[in-house]
Amino acid sequence: MVKNWAYKTSGIPDDLFNQSDEVPGPTKEEIRVITIAKARLREGDVVVDVGCGTGGLTVEAALQVGPKGKVYAIDEDQAAIKLTTSNVEKFGVQGNVSITRGKAPEALLSLPMADAFMIGGGGVSLRAILQTAFFKLKPNGRVVTNAILLETATVAIAELKALGFKDLDITHISVAKGKQINSGTMMMARNPITIVSASKP
Ligand code: SAH
Repeated sequence: MVKNWAYKTSGIPDDLFNQSDEVPGPTKEEIRVITIAKARLREGDVVVDVGCGTGGLTVEAALQVGPKGKVYAIDEDQAAIKLTTSNVEKFGVQGNVSITRGKAPEALLSLPMADAFMIGGGGVSLRAILQTAFFKLKPNGRVVTNAILLETATVAIAELKALGFKDLDITHISVAKGKQINSGTMMMARNPITIVSASKP
């Protein structure tokens, strides 16, 4: 049963997630909205969240795919696994989420064929993760990579092209949030994120 977020739309406020100084995330709420949109999710879809961190994207994807769908959340860090588990329970989506500690790409090999891969972590393994995603995606399956570093984005673009993915989309998002100060509302910039997405032929 879904708890703590009584809406269909994504964009759960960041501060509703349990958080830890040891674990990155959650991916900021506006970035999550666009990431989920780029993943083009449907009820019943199978989604893999590579580098689930705090579980922000895991929970959002689980709400989209519903009880007939499945989200496989993977992270190499035990603290991230614990935190994702706590957030999955907080939002009541444990019924359709499977959380595994492991390092990508190796940890991806035993997963079933998926409709979408969301990649928020991977570092030096990004190329190999994208190659594995290509083999694990169903036809027309989606891959979405969120890059903080320009190098991550350029590696993703090059590898997606080399693998023959179609509909390559590169979107650079800069969000600023209003902060109330004495004289009015001051816009505070957040780090820009580059979202690289594509479809398997
Ligand atoms: N999208 C998440 C935040 C991701 S932070 C959220 O909304 O909460 C990135 C995570 O990727 C980190 O927790 C890190 O441990 C993990 N990570 C990085 N490289 C990895 C790899 N090769 N395999 C598994 N996890 C990895």
